[in-house]
Amino acid sequence: MRRIGNALLLVAALAGSAGAAPQVTAIRHWTAPDHTRIVLDLSASGAWRASTRDGPERIVIDIPGGGFDCATGPLAVGDALVQRVRCNTLRQGAQVVLDLEDGYRYRAFALAAIPGTKPVRVVVDVFPERRDGGASATPSNAGTGTTPAAERAASPAPAAAASPFGREVVIVVDPGHGGEDPGAVRDRLREKDITLDVARRLERSLESRPGFRVVLTRSGDYTVGLAKRRDLAASAAGDAFISIHCNTGPRRSARGVELFYLSPRGASSRRVQALADLENAADLVGGVHPAADAEAVRLVYDERLAKVMQRSYRMALRMHSRTRHLTGLPSRGIKRAAFAVCKTVAMPAVLVEVGFLTNPLDREVLATPAGRQKLADWLAESLDAYFHKYRRTLDDPLFSTRDKLVYRVRRGDNLTLIARRYGISVEDLVSANDLQRADRLAVGQRLVVVADATPAPREHTVRRGETLSGIAQRYGLETADLARLNDIRRHNRLLVGQTLRLRPEAPQRIEHVVRRGETLSEIAQRYGLSVRDLASDNGLSRPDRLRVGQRLVVTPRGTGEGG
Ligand SMILES: [Zn+2]
Repeated sequence: MRRIGNALLLVAALAGSAGAAPQVTAIRHWTAPDHTRIVLDLSASGAWRASTRDGPERIVIDIPGGGFDCATGPLAVGDALVQRVRCNTLRQGAQVVLDLEDGYRYRAFALAAIPGTKPVRVVVDVFPERRDGGASATPSNAGTGTTPAAERAASPAPAAAASPFGREVVIVVDPGHGGEDPGAVRDRLREKDITLDVARRLERSLESRPGFRVVLTRSGDYTVGLAKRRDLAASAAGDAFISIHCNTGPRRSARGVELFYLSPRGASSRRVQALADLENAADLVGGVHPAADAEAVRLVYDERLAKVMQRSYRMALRMHSRTRHLTGLPSRGIKRAAFAVCKTVAMPAVLVEVGFLTNPLDREVLATPAGRQKLADWLAESLDAYFHKYRRTLDDPLFSTRDKLVYRVRRGDNLTLIARRYGISVEDLVSANDLQRADRLAVGQRLVVVADATPAPREHTVRRGETLSGIAQRYGLETADLARLNDIRRHNRLLVGQTLRLRPEAPQRIEHVVRRGETLSEIAQRYGLSVRDLASDNGLSRPDRLRVGQRLVVTPRGTGEGG
């Protein structure tokens, strides 16, 4: 087997780490179609370390000096990647062990506390071993330590501590053209050289400011396709995308800077295409719940599109208003365009034409290092101003990679009840839907729900003094439903320590879309199923040939031995 991130060593001393050694206060897990996430909640920040062991395969998280302030019995996960999670209290501290199935990749990173909402967390994502060396549709950059997102994950602490934005802001800078595509050429000036030089200067200028990190889609003179640029941007999980180009015009008099942002026309055709393939759409909007219907995907997509367009425009406006002052060039204003490279709803995007190669005055700026430095500083200054002003957009749950689904409001619902039902905060619900807290909900209204790393709990253990109606209320359930689910008659008393089911057991179904070269047994293995189960669930006879694009229903079985 090939394992990337072997013995990956991470020691994160998060902001404000002085004080008591961290206690693990909760361990949660979440099975997604393409990875398993384990989250440790910590009482305080401190050092931690992730490493791997062979035979049997394990990932070990050590928290020196730490302890447990939660149940420490083994936690069964039982999906295709993680068997279970165990807690060991050692002399040197707390240790959490993930017992794994063979063939995995992983990444581990820490998240700083969000005051009043989330504690300090250590997150371990376990992925299936990559099957091919080719580009993957999803940003699967686990544990390699080389991809931008992985780098970002591996060192969240120093940037978060120093950042005026509360976390690192990642700007994807895209120098237009390159390699055999020189872009516009006038005399000895080539667009591809100018865009790369401005991009490099922008990188330095931004990274000299606290809180910014830059990911370049191209760092030399080579060709990068538009799809690849978009993939790079997506896997960098950027907060903004800036594409740099130079203009040319038929008349020498045409000059100045031109700013473009996402066109709704281009975006809507993209939406149609995206909706044609739900899986694709889910990638595009980031983590829509696998069971979501087309309507749900459309809602999340539309919400994000509206926000991306608004933010792209505001970002362009910041650049526009500083153009003449900082570059000496006139601004030709802000326009909409359907540039393929901007057609993403993953992050706000602006395409900048930094001047006309065909104009002598613009050329003076474009052809000199001092001129290009001015352009870079102008962009950096504008982005800095934008993120200072719109700092809160960085925490928009709609743009997080957490799972999203759509909830239709029923009679008697309120925000608190809905938030509780999904185990999320009212604040997240409000901000994902642009609501005012005082807003009245309409019956039938659809809300985007951004679920936490774990769904609402499945069980509740009764404590002294609790009543059925109190427990029902706490989880946003009807008392009668809770009673029925647990065969409780009205007059029955609850016993302390009794376990109540909070949700009906429904087997989780995942859809797998067959890719080129995949066999039934490979797919079965990937989800920890027998070929026979997978075949019978889908009404296939063994020798059936799979078609590329064919959808298979995957119903995970229990974790019983010898299945
Ligand atoms: Zn160009």
